[in-house]
Amino acid sequence: MKKLILPLLFISGLSFGQSSLRPTIDQKAEAIESKVIDWRRDFHKYPELGNQEVRTAKIVADHLRSLGMEVTEGVAVTGVVGVLKGGKPGPMVALRADMDALPVTERNDFPFKSVNTAVYNGQETGVMHACGHDSHVAILMGVAEVLAGMKNELEGSVKFIFQPAEEGVLDVDTFGAKQMVAEGVMEDVDAIFGLHIDSQREVGQIGYRTGPFMAAADFFDITIKGVQAHGASPWSSVDPIVTTSQIITGLQTIVSRNVNITEAPAIVSIGGVHGGIRHNIIPETVELIGNIRTYGDEQQELVHRRFEEIATKIAESAGATADVRIKKLYPSTVNHPELMAKMLPTLQEAAGTENVILVDPITASEDYSFYQREKPGIFMMLGGMKKGGDPLKTPSHHTPDFYLDESGFILGVRALSYLTVDYMGMK
Ligand SMILES: [Zn+2]
Ligand SMILES: [Zn+2]
Repeated sequence: MKKLILPLLFISGLSFGQSSLRPTIDQKAEAIESKVIDWRRDFHKYPELGNQEVRTAKIVADHLRSLGMEVTEGVAVTGVVGVLKGGKPGPMVALRADMDALPVTERNDFPFKSVNTAVYNGQETGVMHACGHDSHVAILMGVAEVLAGMKNELEGSVKFIFQPAEEGVLDVDTFGAKQMVAEGVMEDVDAIFGLHIDSQREVGQIGYRTGPFMAAADFFDITIKGVQAHGASPWSSVDPIVTTSQIITGLQTIVSRNVNITEAPAIVSIGGVHGGIRHNIIPETVELIGNIRTYGDEQQELVHRRFEEIATKIAESAGATADVRIKKLYPSTVNHPELMAKMLPTLQEAAGTENVILVDPITASEDYSFYQREKPGIFMMLGGMKKGGDPLKTPSHHTPDFYLDESGFILGVRALSYLTVDYMGMK
């Protein structure tokens, strides 16, 4: 009998990790739910823009310290990193929350409505957690407390990454996750898990995808330069307006004729066309601006290459020039396929199999991708819309009416805690 039982135990230990800790996690998560909601409401009332999350960071750092963690502040300007050492040897699991709010004036009416304002891009504006990062911070503070309460049982350590400026800042090129990585936060990490609340997904659900999940976002500027002339003698011009119209049409063929749309979608959108000043002057230059969204490095390379070729060759054929500048912002958020396959049962345990939903690729982007370029990582969407709500009638992220159903937070606490202990048990 022994010979039979031992291998079975070994196999189940491999597949389900420290699943015996789940009841403790559930109990601790439930006990902490109202605290998580209170933290979120406080952050919601006092939101801070990217790289200015001083108050938020202090509350986070004080909390992590009160749980007995080693805490580093001022990482990537205002970021906070806390390390919880488990009682047993094992891997380092990183968990990430972003802390920044947006220049949006809140229109909700509840007691914890935002009271903060700021000057952004020279304009006076309200500040609002209109992307739900307040919930990310509160949920991860909850996870920290849950896991700290069982640290002797943990087979490994947990790194809590509270990152600033996910939404970007105006004054510097490197910020947020990219800067956290540059400062070495991922060096001793084995795997990373993170989530984004979703105001248009029902509470209780988790949305996931394996491989490329969210798009890479890149901005472009093109200057098309021709020869200026009197509008009455176009033959003496090299007309940058006609050339630009051909380039705009040509760029549409990248997605329709070059991208394998059965593998992943892509987007090329022109956001602005600026040129000319008077009815009877053909101008010298036209400026085009816009954005490109792609999934995975290979597709991004293809789209960028075709973009440059089409713009410059069409310009050349007209006798004009096109100066193409593409600025890479965030890479594609790619969920590591093997890790995703390994951890999917854990998500199903946390939310119930029917509530873990394979979702379409998301065309928004996330700087969480910078962590995933260093170590295997998973990013998921957590439901924050009231049950039975209509996603199409529910305010989307980045809008003044953005609203979260707070009953969805506890699943975030449980899911991140489950992922942590299960991953530790698998190594
Ligand atoms: Zn956002
Ligand atoms: Zn966000």
